[in-house]
This record gives sequence, structure tokens and C-alpha cells, in this order.
Amino acid sequence: MAPKLSHLLSAILVIFSIQSFRGQARTLKPEHRQSFSSFLQGLEGIQKGQTVEGLIELKQYLKKLGYYRSDDITLTSSDFDDHLELALKTYQEYFHLNVTGNLDSSTIQQMMIPRCGMPDIINTPSTKPNSTTSKHNKFHMVVHYAFGTQKWPPSKYALTYRFGSGVQVVGSDTLRSVCSKAFRTWAKVSPFTFQEATAGASADIVIEFFSGDHGDHYPFDGPGNKLAHAFYPQDGRLHYDADENWSIDPAVDQFDLESVTVHEIGHLLGLYHSKDHPEAIICGNCLGSVELSEFDDKKRSCHRRLFYQNAR
Ligand SMILES: [Zn+2]
Ligand SMILES: [Zn+2]
Repeated sequence: MAPKLSHLLSAILVIFSIQSFRGQARTLKPEHRQSFSSFLQGLEGIQKGQTVEGLIELKQYLKKLGYYRSDDITLTSSDFDDHLELALKTYQEYFHLNVTGNLDSSTIQQMMIPRCGMPDIINTPSTKPNSTTSKHNKFHMVVHYAFGTQKWPPSKYALTYRFGSGVQVVGSDTLRSVCSKAFRTWAKVSPFTFQEATAGASADIVIEFFSGDHGDHYPFDGPGNKLAHAFYPQDGRLHYDADENWSIDPAVDQFDLESVTVHEIGHLLGLYHSKDHPEAIICGNCLGSVELSEFDDKKRSCHRRLFYQNAR
């Protein structure tokens, strides 16, 4: 890793360390882990060479998160083929699991953890294929740093937001309060300012809840698994899965709306998921297990420097 990137990552981690919250991880109760999780459990132990109905859904899941090359094969079969094995190895490496290429228990368990729907890996195909290098290593994994290439120009650092007319899940006053707090968190550590747009006006950021397929190629999946997503600059869309059990004071079977909002705003501002440090708030799998702490002055100034050096 280049020194600059290393520095960036360290800075991000200092700011977003949530080690102290590990004991407060919140997960769904088993009865809410229907569908995708039970589906995953049914795939455990399937091996390369087998054809099993449902493997195509697993392939689509991995592809959506960036574990297939964008120019790779079409996912039309339910064969456990070389491409799936490769995608699984990439997934396992990303989450620091044993890189077996198999659907082993630890891999299935990792996939069952509720998460953000945005990709972990932004793939660009290799321009110089090398027969001595495995396909696995040809992936250009833009995951070691937190800032992506899509940014808001300095002329757009004063962002406006509004609430869309999607599914009504949380009371409008509650959602307004949660989002206002989450935006203030980012305003403290970035050059951005955020203001709710006046009624009827357009806005840079639009926040709303949706259920299932809602037309942006990132369908939600019912309770559990994908909880929310937000698109990189200058898209501005932040979507929550309306089928989750959201709360501002979550019990064990609920998800914390504010911490998920803070994570997703990170994407709106141009942050990608961070690979090597699952404790960072911008990791893909930390949704629902993160709470916020007040940034102390030192961390705040560190993050401010980070933004000013790299987000412009
Ligand atoms: Zn995310
Ligand atoms: Zn969406």
C-alpha cells in the first residue's frame, strides 16, 4: 500500500473506530433471518462441479458486491464453476477468512451478517492479462482507501437534502431528527454543510425508504441482509430497506437508524467500503452493529485534514 493511502486509511480508522461498541452489536432474531439466510445455509458444503438450484442467486449476490469482474461471464447457470470459486476466494480474502473457494461454514456465516448493499470492490478489468497470474490477482481492488473517484466539486460543498415520497416507515419528525443529527456528524469533520431543502424544492440528496425492487438495480431483499444503500457523488440517493425493523433506540431485533444513516451519508460524500479494517464504520458489514461516539477534537481535526486533502 502506498504511504499516502496508508495514511488515509489510518486517519479513517482513527475517526471511525468502533472497537468499544463491539459488545453492543445488534443483529436480527433468528425468526427474522428467513429467506436469504436460510437460503445460504442450504448451500453450505456444495462443491465445485455440482449444479444446485439457487447457486445463480448466490452468484448474483457476489457480483452485485463486486466479487465478479464487471466484464466477466454472464450468470445464467446454477453450476458451481471456476468463476464462482474465484468469486468466493475473493470474498474470503476480503473478509479475512480461509481462502478455500468453498461454501464453508465461516463463509456462509459471514454472508448472513446484515450489511450495506453497496459494493465492497469496484472492479476494473486488467489491461494486461498475465498467464502466470491467477485471475484472482487480476482484480484491481479499489478497496484499500476510503475515498472513491466520484466527488462533489467544491462549488457543491453546501448540500441540500429532502425526504422522498417512498414507503413511510418512520415518522417524519423522527426521520428528520435522525438525519439532521447524522448530517451534523459529517459537517463537523468535513468541508460539507447540509441543509434541508425548502418544501417543494429540489435537493442534492434525497432520502427515502423502499421495499424490494424499486427501480435502481439495487433491489432490497426483505428483512435482514441488505439494509440500505446510497450512491456515490453526485447521485444523492439514500435508500433504506422499508422491510427492516428500524429504531432510534434499537432493541436486539432492531437496526439503529442513525448509525446506518451516518454510514450511508459516507457513500453520498464519496466514501467506498474499507477492506482491511472491519471495525471501520464504512465497512460493508458493520451496519446494525455500529453506534456513534462523539469525535474528540483531535480526531475531528484529523478527519478534516483528510477531507481537505482528498475530497477536492
Ligand atoms: Zn456501505
Ligand atoms: Zn435504492
